[in-house]
Amino acid sequence: MSKKINVVIWNEFRHEKEMEDVKVLYPDGIHAFIKNFLKNNEDMNITLAALDDKDQGLPNELLSKTDVLLWWGHCAHKEVNDELVEKIRARVYLGKMGFIALHSGHHSKPFKVIVGTNGNLSWGRNQKEIVWNMMPSHPIAAGIPDHFILEEDELYSEPFYIPQPNALVFGSWFEDGHIFRSGACFIRGAGKVFYFQPGHETCKSYYNPHVQRIIENAIRWAAPTEIGYEITDECPEITSATIAEFDKK
Ligand code: ZN
Repeated sequence: MSKKINVVIWNEFRHEKEMEDVKVLYPDGIHAFIKNFLKNNEDMNITLAALDDKDQGLPNELLSKTDVLLWWGHCAHKEVNDELVEKIRARVYLGKMGFIALHSGHHSKPFKVIVGTNGNLSWGRNQKEIVWNMMPSHPIAAGIPDHFILEEDELYSEPFYIPQPNALVFGSWFEDGHIFRSGACFIRGAGKVFYFQPGHETCKSYYNPHVQRIIENAIRWAAPTEIGYEITDECPEITSATIAEFDKK
């Protein structure tokens, strides 16, 4: 069997401790819930990390072997250490790690820095959402029907101030009449990024089998591909020596 994908599910993990209505749905945290529904994927090696853990959950030993980082955060984005954010950005740009921002992760420091956005959007009351599959040929849409219904999630609406996505896989309709780009892919440097909107902390979206399948697909899509040369986080100068090297290949 080929190498397993090292997945880290990072969660701010505050709402689940402080709010009864969240604790009921996700008693061990949203990250643990996601790990649980992914557990039958034998190609994934899953680790949980939380903001209040040592080194904000991502010590170098763990980050340096992470292939895909999932990120759920909401009320404590500002507490995330800027040095850690820079390490995450560099690892994505070097093609060593994929990044998946979940729900309110649109305002997380890593998402904003990696993608290049203020992360702003409009939002409103929880309501019925229809998630439309807009790109059935995309690997993240594998096995997903043309649309599915979430009885309740938080209204996120356009305008969403993201740069033009490299692929827009899902779009959502909300019962108040708003629409939102709910599943968007970005290529940054040699790395891959996916943003996925469903997953408000007081809603059961992560219980939905299609949402679960999308997250599973996104992990496999975002996992680094084998790159046949060393990429560095700098601009190497081309000299006669490097040209001579080039001629040998
Ligand atoms: Zn929310």
